[in-house]
Amino acid sequence: MKNITNLWEIQNLEENKGKIQRQIKSIPEYRELKELKTEIEAGQKEVHALKRELELVKKSIRCEEDALAVFKEKIEKASEELYGGQNSSAKELETAEKNVAKLRQQCITVEEKILVIMEKADYQEKKIEKMISALEERKNAFKSLNSRYKITKEDLHNTLTEITSRLDVLKGKVPPEALEMYQKLCSKFKDGKGIAALRGGICSGCNMSVSFDILKKVKNRGDVKCDNCGRLLIMK
Ligand SMILES: [Zn+2]
Repeated sequence: MKNITNLWEIQNLEENKGKIQRQIKSIPEYRELKELKTEIEAGQKEVHALKRELELVKKSIRCEEDALAVFKEKIEKASEELYGGQNSSAKELETAEKNVAKLRQQCITVEEKILVIMEKADYQEKKIEKMISALEERKNAFKSLNSRYKITKEDLHNTLTEITSRLDVLKGKVPPEALEMYQKLCSKFKDGKGIAALRGGICSGCNMSVSFDILKKVKNRGDVKCDNCGRLLIMK
């Protein structure tokens, strides 16, 4: 069969094509990229939540500072009254003094509270900063991995395009009925290969020795099938 050389080439190219297609689907970087993406998205969500929490903490600091200002104003007013000579009796004076002392105590309590909240805000701010810089690192890792992935993918696609166009050329050289016969034959085998190489009298499809008669026919470029597996044989 004179088309056997082309068909053999077609079979090899189709095998390569399948390999490349599988490689495209399982580029190692792809999985890593997906994992990194999930990690980055989760980190971004966490930073967002922490920032919102920090805003609330800062808001509570402002509230306490307002309260402090009110107390300070009250102290000022009470002190003015106390030392302004408005309290005529000793008892009134004592009450006014106690009032000022109480207000001062309240002031201290609020100031202490503010300090605690400020420490908390400080801690949260540092945590956010750390998380943001860790996220930046992950993003950079994603970028370089992604460019590597793109290059690998592009290379594989280019190879695939090349194989496909070579296949088109070869298929154009084979008469349609021969191509149809070849495809029918291929569909009969699990590995999809209808043509086997004959090397040293052994069929590459089933690894069995063929008879001398078959060997002779293949040598004479005859259209011969392996008497064991039924694949078309090509001398190699
Ligand atoms: Zn065979």
